[in-house]
Amino acid sequence: MAAVYLSICRMLETNTTSVLLEENASKIKSDDVGWEYGSLADLSNKDKVKCLFCNHVIIGGVYRHKQHVAHVGNFVAKCKKSSQEAKDRCKKSLEEASKKRMEKTSRELELREGVNISRVGDA
Ligand SMILES: [Zn+2]
Repeated sequence: MAAVYLSICRMLETNTTSVLLEENASKIKSDDVGWEYGSLADLSNKDKVKCLFCNHVIIGGVYRHKQHVAHVGNFVAKCKKSSQEAKDRCKKSLEEASKKRMEKTSRELELREGVNISRVGDA
């Protein structure tokens, strides 16, 4: 009886783990266009993305994967099989991401300058 009970427990544990992994995968996967051309190669490591065109595994997340598909940058191997549409969409998404980063940085600089000015006023 004990053995049966144990194996049921193990079955339950296995099920719970796979559900958790699936939840993680959907959390990791955003609506980023890069996921249309890649999938998680390792559910426990969101930095490993498998290219759907050439099955190459890119380490460095979906951002690097998009560079791979779009042939952008010098740090990733370029995808030999990506379609022109995929290249364009990934490239556009990369450009938007870098534009957003720049906007954020300039806002932060403005905020910091604002803090400095108010400190001068206090003294
Ligand atoms: Zn590829």
